[in-house]
Amino acid sequence: MELNTKEMEIAYKQSHTQAAFMDLNEGYGVFDTAAQAIVAAHEAFGSLDQKGSTARKTIVEAVKGLCQEFAVAWGRFEIQETGVGRFEHKVEKLQIIPLVQGVESLDNHAMIGDCGVTFEQPVAWGVIGSITPLTHVIPTIAANIINMVAAGNTVVFNPHPNGVRSAILAIRAFNYRIEEVTGLKNVATMVKNPTVESFNELCAHPLVRLLSVTGGPGVVKAALNSGKQALCAGPGNPPVVVDETADLDRAAEQILLGAAYDNNLLCIGEKEIFVVDAVFDLFIAAFKKAGAFQLNDAQMAAMTKVAFLKDKNGNMAVNRDCVGRSPSVLAKLAGFTGVPADCQLLFAVTDADHIFVQEEQMMPVIPVVRVANIDEAISQAKRAEKGCQHSAMIHSHNTLSINRMSRELNTTIFTQNGSCLAGLGIGGEGYLSFTILTNTGQCISTPNVFTRKRRFVSVHAPYAI
Ligand code: NAD
Repeated sequence: MELNTKEMEIAYKQSHTQAAFMDLNEGYGVFDTAAQAIVAAHEAFGSLDQKGSTARKTIVEAVKGLCQEFAVAWGRFEIQETGVGRFEHKVEKLQIIPLVQGVESLDNHAMIGDCGVTFEQPVAWGVIGSITPLTHVIPTIAANIINMVAAGNTVVFNPHPNGVRSAILAIRAFNYRIEEVTGLKNVATMVKNPTVESFNELCAHPLVRLLSVTGGPGVVKAALNSGKQALCAGPGNPPVVVDETADLDRAAEQILLGAAYDNNLLCIGEKEIFVVDAVFDLFIAAFKKAGAFQLNDAQMAAMTKVAFLKDKNGNMAVNRDCVGRSPSVLAKLAGFTGVPADCQLLFAVTDADHIFVQEEQMMPVIPVVRVANIDEAISQAKRAEKGCQHSAMIHSHNTLSINRMSRELNTTIFTQNGSCLAGLGIGGEGYLSFTILTNTGQCISTPNVFTRKRRFVSVHAPYAI
């Protein structure tokens, strides 16, 4: 993204504030050990509880405000540190943080009758241990603080080690501003050097009442085996189906928008396309017209060779050096030229068994599979989604097919005739979160999922049986 002069000025000013936060030697939520971070967050929980929902609303507004104020500087900082994704999308993911739900969304349910009044009141867990991914470091931390603190909790983060400086920058800024506006310290804390050991400490510590995990299969498995109550936002491999009733130009544009976003780092992003035979060639033409660049068989073979490597168990796994890289960098890694510099998305025609179809690749290379009809499209989409129950998309005007696919894949997000982004309130209705709770079967995270429910019963007249 080219910045105009005004934006450059703002980024420059912000970088000074940013440096100030990085230079603070200690405090503002960043601790050497997990135990220190947990104890500090626990003390903050007591103080937050005393201050009530007004303070929680103030904190939510402070976090939302900072994300907008520092979007450009933090976006730049995060991409420089992590090296994955696209700058303009790092910025946008911070600018949209106001779409995350706060205190106003908490469920308050009253039952009124002859005996009196009963409320089911959402109450906090206490300290939540939160594990966050590399793919959106600051947006996930910000959205989690908003959801968790709105529900009355405080939080300790064990962020991804490769994004730790971005996490420190944001956590310090959030605590600095939260203290300024509420007087509360350490509402969100973190471990300065997050490791698997510090993750294990969070899991074992009695003051951590709940875990919230956003990441891939390894960390989800570790959290579910930890013995601690865990809400898990795990991996996906979102398929998209295009049938003969689709508006093909619109489908091509929307798929390109979603699959190219942040170099396909989004867990909700389109990862493989199944197109029915009747419109297959027309869709390919529309996809090219929208700006996707077609790889030939030799180029796709070279790309596959660099994009997937054998892991330590001998299984093929995505090469982390390719995750979130741009099309031109990927082409260079694969050893071919000819990809236009402004190209956002590469695609190739493959069969349904191809590793790019069956594995979550998180890079802007999308396979397109020809299927005979909608029956095969839905069954192959289901196979590729692998029961993650994460996200799926369809481009169709056949209500029976749309409903059937939504029921058969049974994903947490299902989008019809829009890009994956619409599923998180960007070009579609609804709220945002970067924590899509899949493995433990909930929903897109909101403050409510981070609450317990207390039934509060007020008896007006003793009932005579
Ligand atoms: P990752 O699994 O490598 O890392 C996620 C977090 O878990 C990091 O903080 C990492 O340090 C930690 N971690 C990893 N393995 C661990 C282990 N064995 N024990 C303890 N901690 C461990 O994932 P990533 O590359 O950061 O993010 C991409 C993955 O996360 C993709 O699979 C994507 O689909 C998923 N994701 C899901 C959501 C969602 O809302 N469902 C959101 C973002 C990302």
